[in-house]
Amino acid sequence: MKLYNINNHNEQVSFCEAVIKGLGSNKGLFFPENLPIFSDKEISDLLEMDFINRSAKILYAYLHDEIPFTQILNFLKIAFNFSVPVVKINHNISILELFHGPTLAFKDFGCRFLAQIIPEITNNKLTIILTATSGDTGAAVANAFHNIDNIKVIILYPYKKISIFQEQLICNLGNNIYPLAVEGNFDDCQYLVKEAFDDKKIKKSVKLNSANSINIGRLLAQICYYFEGVSKIPIFLRKKLVVSVPCGNFGNLMAGLLAKSLGLPIKRLIVATNVNNTVPRYLKSGKWSPQPTISTISNSMDISTPNNWPRIKELFLRKDWKWNLLGSGAVSDKETCETIREVNKSNYITEPHTAISYRVLKNKLQDDEFGLCISTAHPVKFLDTIEKILGKKISINSEKFLFSKNCLSKKAKIIPANLNDLRKVILSLN
Ligand SMILES: *Cc1c(COP(=O)(O)O)cnc(C)c1O
Repeated sequence: MKLYNINNHNEQVSFCEAVIKGLGSNKGLFFPENLPIFSDKEISDLLEMDFINRSAKILYAYLHDEIPFTQILNFLKIAFNFSVPVVKINHNISILELFHGPTLAFKDFGCRFLAQIIPEITNNKLTIILTATSGDTGAAVANAFHNIDNIKVIILYPYKKISIFQEQLICNLGNNIYPLAVEGNFDDCQYLVKEAFDDKKIKKSVKLNSANSINIGRLLAQICYYFEGVSKIPIFLRKKLVVSVPCGNFGNLMAGLLAKSLGLPIKRLIVATNVNNTVPRYLKSGKWSPQPTISTISNSMDISTPNNWPRIKELFLRKDWKWNLLGSGAVSDKETCETIREVNKSNYITEPHTAISYRVLKNKLQDDEFGLCISTAHPVKFLDTIEKILGKKISINSEKFLFSKNCLSKKAKIIPANLNDLRKVILSLN
């Protein structure tokens, strides 16, 4: 699979190179030169298959010149080892639950696939994954790469600024996972990571990878669950299917659009954001004007300059799609709370990110359409918030959740927000 840099079409890389590099020169994202398309017959055959075998066929359509089919299949057997249910909420809306992976958020799909391919394409030479997190991504990255040979993972998070659940998911693993609690905020962590990637001494002695959400490996893996969602919808509803996506950095939406580009029957998609609504405003006015980021209860979507947006623009250009393929809406915290209460009347417990997806879908869905609402996180991750909103104690079947005991068995090393200190840690792992 060849990819080009959106900001410099002369820079061309293979899929494996794009996974290792992450970003091209001039901060340009890599974009596939060829966009594969399945015929209608191939699509209906795919929708008959089981999740793992179908997903391998989908990824092979992109990766056939670089990775053998059986190897992709073996990667996916390990990476996608959890269920992907569709739950009916009412006569015209079902929810696609993407939160049954080990860290209870959809980021497990992309990170776990990346954890299979990175050791393979680096020929088992030591790679250090360096990631800054405000919570969820760090948990998914740490969990995905835990105990993978020749990989060491450094997770930077803001000291005392993430939840105890998130801290446990990152810190309790041990072995090749090195959590660092940075005395600063999330922006300080992200800045430190950028500095480390530009540091000559570090570059000279270790191989770094950030495994972040612009990584093409994560995006491709995420296409697969859109097919799984559609396969679980009755055939007669598939022609009028609208999929709603709760958006932050817009990786999830990009994967849904790639699924459509492959030929998956999705009539249109809905962009659902919180009050950080740069894209809904852009779709209405044609003006791109990000505003300062506002904190909300759907904090994984508190992003006002979504880093995958240039890819989405490129895809629309390449496919000659019109923007009316996307519906959109932005939801306040107050409406999010109301929606959590509304959905609970159908005996379903949901959390803030999914509630936003549901709200906008409900507002935009037309009479003859059927809606699939993407759910990105398990409600148990937001138990306190949800109990406050619903005004009652709730019991969620949580026997499999490692953090139910609420104990932090290992502690992160605390460092000042300073490149010298981070560099010392990185070089000591070599
Ligand atoms: C990361 C995240 C999102 C946003 O996904 P993007 O792909 O960045 O748009 C939404 N919900 C949850 C729970 C997340 O962790």
